[in-house]
Amino acid sequence: MKDDWKEQLACATKCSKCRKDLSPRNLRILSVYNHNPICMSCKKKEEKRPDYEEASKTTIEQCMADTEIMYSDPGGYCYSHFYPFKCK
Ligand SMILES: [Zn+2]
Repeated sequence: MKDDWKEQLACATKCSKCRKDLSPRNLRILSVYNHNPICMSCKKKEEKRPDYEEASKTTIEQCMADTEIMYSDPGGYCYSHFYPFKCK
C-alpha cells in the first residue's frame, strides 16, 4: 500500500513552512497542523502556538486511526510529528 511516506516526507529538500533548504543530514519533523515536514526552528515556533498542545493531542489520535490502513508503520509516521528525524 502507501508506504513511501518516509521517502516523500523524510527526504523533503525544503522546509514546507519557511522554504529553507534541508539537506538529508538535517533534522526535520512533521507539523502537527498539516503533516508537512518542517525545519527545527519552525517547529519551535509551532510549539509556542497557544493551541499547540491541543493540536498535537488531536493529531496523534487522528493519525493513529487514519494511517493504520494506509501505512505499514503508522507509529513511525505518527511519532515523526514529535521526534525529529533525518532522511535515511
Ligand atoms: Zn522552516
